[in-house]
Amino acid sequence: MTGICGLFDAPRLRTLPRTDQEPCWCDSGITVGRCCGPALSRAATAVTAEALMRSRYSAYLIGDADYLLSTWHPATRPASLILDEAQRWIGLTIKSVTAGSERDTEGSVEFVARFKIHGRGQRLHEHSRFVREQGLWFYREGRQDA
Ligand SMILES: [Zn+2]
Repeated sequence: MTGICGLFDAPRLRTLPRTDQEPCWCDSGITVGRCCGPALSRAATAVTAEALMRSRYSAYLIGDADYLLSTWHPATRPASLILDEAQRWIGLTIKSVTAGSERDTEGSVEFVARFKIHGRGQRLHEHSRFVREQGLWFYREGRQDA
């Protein structure tokens, strides 16, 4: 069922979006407005695999499961996604990027994402694979390193 005027379809953000002038959630060193903001507000789509990866990290951080599902390739997308409220994302470092430009149809990004869960720091080291179909980048799958 859809809500009146799409009201009930609005994305629910656990953390209020930052203003466009603040540093982005994804630790890119640039502002939200020039980084993940336009993708997360659905004003634009990510033009590179790295941009999509960063916006998906930001979506995890602010609790936007709808964005994560919509940017997940249908072949590997889960039916639903429940984000763990106890998981606090605290940092992202991109290690390497292979292809994934606006002219590519595939790309991969190696990154380390740090988070805390119940006060304990942990790190996720992953090689994520992305594909671009009809101009849109999708997360396809990830392989984790120990
Ligand atoms: Zn960002």
